[in-house]
Amino acid sequence: MRNEIMGVSFDNITLDEAIEQGAALARGPGFSYVVTPNPEIVNLARQTKEYEDILNGAGLVLPDGIGVVYAAKILGCPLKGRVPGIDFATGLLARLEVSGQRLFLLGAKPGVAEQAAANLKEQYPNLVICGTNDGYFQDSTPVVEKIRAAGADVVFVCLGAPKQERWMARYGPDTGAHLMVGLGGVLDVYAGNVKRAPEIWQKLGMEWLYRLIRQPSRIGRMAKLPLFLVDARKARKKEGSR
Ligand code: UDP
Repeated sequence: MRNEIMGVSFDNITLDEAIEQGAALARGPGFSYVVTPNPEIVNLARQTKEYEDILNGAGLVLPDGIGVVYAAKILGCPLKGRVPGIDFATGLLARLEVSGQRLFLLGAKPGVAEQAAANLKEQYPNLVICGTNDGYFQDSTPVVEKIRAAGADVVFVCLGAPKQERWMARYGPDTGAHLMVGLGGVLDVYAGNVKRAPEIWQKLGMEWLYRLIRQPSRIGRMAKLPLFLVDARKARKKEGSR
């Protein structure tokens, strides 16, 4: 079941259910992609119909961010909870290690995907990482070819939003992969360049604050988040007065 939040239809599922469904999509036979919108991404979609359609066309739309969960509550269509992209990805890694399916890592600055692959291989010795590519390419054609030649089943696409969602929708079907997951800065975390918030911060829904303290330059992006909740309240009031 999907709950519509400000134009984007989110899957109302738990993390475990999401991993289960992701693993099923990875087995094919077709192609699908997973998006993990936070309030910033939903705001972008509200401005661009084409981007909104790409998000709603995903096989799984996961609420990555406490702001989306709060907005859902305000709108009267609560979600089961937050499903952070990185937790979904990590759950999927364990599944891929068992199934033997092939994973390709795409994105981040040169060298980061390779470092992430090396770290993941230590943690998941049987995981098959069939290739990597940085995220600063000009021409997509050789990248599509590289993924195809590597025989990837699953691709983690870490180009930042909205580039990664557009890239998956546009080029994903040509790569022969079954599943692509748009994951923002996750390769930087796997590579050990960016630290994730300690678990207690995550549990309290304060991961955004931790990131802000570590990277104060994100303040401009985050300042828009309270406005998102104000907009949700306005949308609810409008609905109520109809
Ligand atoms: N990135 C990329 N290609 C680009 C722009 C960005 O590979 O053209 C990478 C960037 O190096 C970083 C990730 O995309 O690893 C975006 O990280 P950010 O923290 O902004 O994403 P978020 O998790 O906030 O969506």
